[in-house]
Amino acid sequence: MIWLIFLFSIDPRYHTAEEIAYEIDSIANDYSTITVLDTIGYSTVDSLPIFALKISDNPLLDEDEPSILYIGGHHAEEILGIEICMYMISDLLTQYGVDSAATYWIDNREIWFVPLMNPEGQGVVMTGLDTIWRKNKRDNNNNGFFDLTYDGVDLNRNYDFYWTEGGSPDPPDEFYRGPYSFSENENRAIRDLAFREEFTFCITYHSARYGLTEVIYYPWHWSGGYSADYPFLRTVADSIAKRILRDSGVGYYTALPGEGLEGNARNWLYGVCGTFTFCIEVSTTTLQPGWMVDGICQRNLPGAYYLLERVEQGGITGWIRDSSTLQPLTAEVIVQGYYDPTLPPRRSNANYGRFYRILKTGTYTVEIHKPGYVPLRYDSIIVANEQMTELNVTMRRMGGETIAPAGQKKIRVSPNPTNANVLIQIDPALNLSSLSIYDIGGRLVKNIQNPARSLLWRGTDEKNRNVATGVYWLLGQGENSTVTQKVVIVRELGFW
Ligand SMILES: [Zn+2]
Repeated sequence: MIWLIFLFSIDPRYHTAEEIAYEIDSIANDYSTITVLDTIGYSTVDSLPIFALKISDNPLLDEDEPSILYIGGHHAEEILGIEICMYMISDLLTQYGVDSAATYWIDNREIWFVPLMNPEGQGVVMTGLDTIWRKNKRDNNNNGFFDLTYDGVDLNRNYDFYWTEGGSPDPPDEFYRGPYSFSENENRAIRDLAFREEFTFCITYHSARYGLTEVIYYPWHWSGGYSADYPFLRTVADSIAKRILRDSGVGYYTALPGEGLEGNARNWLYGVCGTFTFCIEVSTTTLQPGWMVDGICQRNLPGAYYLLERVEQGGITGWIRDSSTLQPLTAEVIVQGYYDPTLPPRRSNANYGRFYRILKTGTYTVEIHKPGYVPLRYDSIIVANEQMTELNVTMRRMGGETIAPAGQKKIRVSPNPTNANVLIQIDPALNLSSLSIYDIGGRLVKNIQNPARSLLWRGTDEKNRNVATGVYWLLGQGENSTVTQKVVIVRELGFW
């Protein structure tokens, strides 16, 4: 009888883990062309699946698009964040093809949700066993039973970043950080997803039982100072905050730098992965009555959706490739003055050589480094408000044999820059079988098989349309050689 009374202590508006499993699976079926459901791990004790849902067009492909992650339910009793994720999933999907912004985001972003990161801990709350349970169910004393007074790990203290500085070393403590960093399956699931997807932005949803509420924490402030990207993190956090109305209906959320370094998701995702990560303490306490849930979710959407816009407003993006093969390179991108040498390098991704650096209006110096390659430096890169500055570069291998000495380039183009016609002259010794022209985004503009020694490119694509002003790359491929040459097309009248 007591069990039954407990069962009804949590409002049925809140999802149980079983309801989430069922709902997310039917969503993935209903929207199979724009979603993929992934099980990224199983909970530490009960082996409950941890689901990740990806929303994007061509969802099975890793496209050259920025990735953004939303996580709910690190802390078992903070169940509002789970509801926000589920609400956002269904809002985005039902708006696809209806609302132009949602359609654009789904077509041009990879949007990931882990609505319930701690399913076994949430079960402790949802069954009413302990409605203020925070941790997972790790059997700390190895007695084969779940002890509310001794078991569990605080999953938001188990990440491998200043792990010993945060939480508590004592198993019974609510903030127990675990026997070692990444000891918990749940944390390793997030780690592996983050390493694979290389998120530009992340929100991790919480709801505080005590302490400050309706706040957004971003990385970081501690006795040693502020995080390297602090000015940019702060402006993004402020912009999220001013879009989320408080439950009272008066005023908006507040953004604050997270105090101290410890092994939480926010610090690890930013510190190790370079992901701009925001911890939002939603609402005014953890357990709100069911009738409030939809309102809290709705008020949070503009803050969450802001990131889907911001990811291409104000910053530098581009690809980095090998100058002779045009293969994507993982290279370190350093923005001078906003660089912390104690952190792992911020690198372009493996599949596309793509990088994103979120900045704000200003002028920056960017350095690009990769062992074995000649380092690059770009001064005076201007970032204008609400725009991404493109910086696509190729890196030259040190001592590479395929590089011709200056003045003896094996593909010559003239004039360069040009406003229309480009004379392309190819060294016959190259014996090229094809000549391809790529735009700065890496898209093929034109392909010429068995090119003549001397030919004219009229600045048009395969369909004879004029190409836009910009930088283009010629890639010549022969039996034993690959050569590249840059050509700049400038369309403005009066340029000459
Ligand atoms: Zn929390």
